[in-house]
Amino acid sequence: MKSAWHRLAWLHFGLAVASAFAGEPALQRYEFTELHMGTRFKIVLYAPNAAAASRAVTAAFARIARLDDTMSDYNPGSELMSLSRQAGGPPRRVSEDLFRALEKSQKLALRTNGAFDITAGPVIRLWRRARRRSELPDSKELARSRRLVGYRDLRLDAAKRTAQLLKPGMQLDLGGIAKGFAADEALAVLRQQGISRALVAGGGDIAVGAPPPGKEGWRIGIAPLESPEAPPTHFLMLRDVGVSTSGDAEQNVEIGGKRYSHIIDPRTGEALIGRRSVTVVAPSATASDSLATAISVLGPQRGLQLAKSLPGVGLYFVQSSQRGTRTMEWNLHPAIAKDTARSPGRTAASAASPR
Ligand code: ADP
Ligand code: MG
Repeated sequence: MKSAWHRLAWLHFGLAVASAFAGEPALQRYEFTELHMGTRFKIVLYAPNAAAASRAVTAAFARIARLDDTMSDYNPGSELMSLSRQAGGPPRRVSEDLFRALEKSQKLALRTNGAFDITAGPVIRLWRRARRRSELPDSKELARSRRLVGYRDLRLDAAKRTAQLLKPGMQLDLGGIAKGFAADEALAVLRQQGISRALVAGGGDIAVGAPPPGKEGWRIGIAPLESPEAPPTHFLMLRDVGVSTSGDAEQNVEIGGKRYSHIIDPRTGEALIGRRSVTVVAPSATASDSLATAISVLGPQRGLQLAKSLPGVGLYFVQSSQRGTRTMEWNLHPAIAKDTARSPGRTAASAASPR
């Protein structure tokens, strides 16, 4: 789940912003960063004072850390790993957090016919090793791993809150949904602490709440496909939603002139090839995170069909090939705004105001 948070960047200006709303005390902007889930989590919030901000953010990061302990596929002590070790055994009762993440993942797996599939663990591991070694997975090993992949072999029982992996050797991987899930949960904790004007970003997965005082939304920049380090040129203005970008800009490997992504097609066991960047806006970051991964696998046409079939989902799909770069946009309100007001060399914070 290593990823670079700079794929998406939000920009905002002003330090102390007096609230435009009567009755709300003057709010100040605070920003915090911690490393979790192999990536940088950033929280931006508006609070009446430093003590309130710090109290809330401590609770929010603690929530993220707990979810990391639950869902990590790197930490052998995580609940997820321990569940995977019991593959082939009887149903096992799991925590509420894990059950919810499994349930949401299975729903999307069903809807996408397995384009999104958290049972792809064995294949994902092979491709991870391939990236480390810059060498394609062994085809026999890949075929063996593929036989262990299949969301239908993960059985959930909501009444008993149990999960069962039917085949020994199966391995779950929540890398395509965990960061969005954690961002949503952290935002909920902030809300419980009385802070509603907040943004939580876990790498490229962002949950935004109520907007900064006097603004219509959080200004979210979408990093350019070819140079994700460069300042964004396209922006979204968002509130109370999740937004995620799945790209292969940071995690890929080039072997034999082909560029292999860290997203794999669970139905074939192959890593995606080529350059694409998929940005999804959805009612939650759990949804945007998993959908961005799923739509990367489905491709522009079927991805668009999926986006259209779901309420409150917007899509921005950028794909580059020998024939050039193709972009596709659906249901983004306001539409993705190309920021032309930005002067070169400066951070985009000085540009375009909310619309
Ligand atoms: P990132 O973690 O870089 O933000 P994604 O959200 O797209 O990117 O998640 C990619 C991760 O999801 C992979 O590293 C892997 O752990 C997992 N994954 C890869 N392919 C799939 C897939 N088809 N379905 C579900 N999970 C996947
Ligand atoms: Mg994702």
